Amino acid sequence: MATNATFSAPQLFETLYGATDLAALNWFEKQWVAWYIWIGNPVIATGLMSFLLHEFVYFGRCIPWIIIDAIPYFRRWKLQPNKIPTPKEQWECTKQVLFSHFTIELPAIWLFHPMAESIGMATYQVPFPDWRTMLPQVAFCFVFEDFFHYVAHQALHYGPLYKHIHKIHHKYSAPFGLAAEYAHPAEVFILGTGTIAGPLLYCFFFGNLHIVTVYIWITLRLFQAIDSHSGYDFPWSLQHIVPFWSGAEHHDFHHMAFTNNFSTSFRWCDRLFGTDTKYQEYRARVKAMKTKGANKEDFQRMEKKLMEEVEKEGQIAEREVENGVKAKKQ
Ligand SMILES: [Zn+2]
Ligand SMILES: [Zn+2]
Repeated sequence: MATNATFSAPQLFETLYGATDLAALNWFEKQWVAWYIWIGNPVIATGLMSFLLHEFVYFGRCIPWIIIDAIPYFRRWKLQPNKIPTPKEQWECTKQVLFSHFTIELPAIWLFHPMAESIGMATYQVPFPDWRTMLPQVAFCFVFEDFFHYVAHQALHYGPLYKHIHKIHHKYSAPFGLAAEYAHPAEVFILGTGTIAGPLLYCFFFGNLHIVTVYIWITLRLFQAIDSHSGYDFPWSLQHIVPFWSGAEHHDFHHMAFTNNFSTSFRWCDRLFGTDTKYQEYRARVKAMKTKGANKEDFQRMEKKLMEEVEKEGQIAEREVENGVKAKKQ
């Protein structure tokens, strides 16, 4: 049906939900119906909900990390403990992120409803699918995005693309939560494609996809992106429970060393294609320092020296990429 027209509330209700058994809906599904009726136009309702979801989840997830950065107790789990983001840096980053959200994401999100409907994705419809339907769909999105990002991120490390686009994201050699989407608008668009193309392709080929599943996926993907930029590796971090999960420990190294670890959620692409050799070597050296029996102060001193060494090599590699000189094989 055409959902781009504006109806009166009773007309819209009849058009969208005339055939739905409302008594059988759960609380969440009833709110969903109320939202679509209240807004009065499904295209605007979906666009607005998608944008608000993104803003609330993004900034909502960043707040705990801002608080953690302000409490010295947590420094013991900071991956690069000597680099704590200042409030000024966090504010500058927030402004750039908001700029991207309004210039790139808002128009893209607005186009999402017509695009989603044209390939048969359910939007206003209730009831929602069963979790057994959603789970494999979300898993597909994770795997698809991880591989897409792995390839696209390496392309962004190619000279001209790096110099004009990806360099902005690498401003912080020790990232923090808010820096997850701190990037050139072109990068937001390119890498955002990996997040959106998974559900679109899935729906195009297999059908049976509800936008609520896409929202669950996007929420989890935002948590993944922000947490992996947090700069903290806690003993309870997911990567200690799920060994192939990347987490902050994996991506922090990419920012520090300017090389290796190009994927987002999982470690397998970098392992399989050999783009984590330097990272493995770094981890082995840190482990060797620990087993040497050095006391805490000695260990911290050695670790700091090693980090400085790795970061310096990264800065050289970055200059080589920017100047078009082939970087030494890592
Ligand atoms: Zn990068
Ligand atoms: Zn990053």
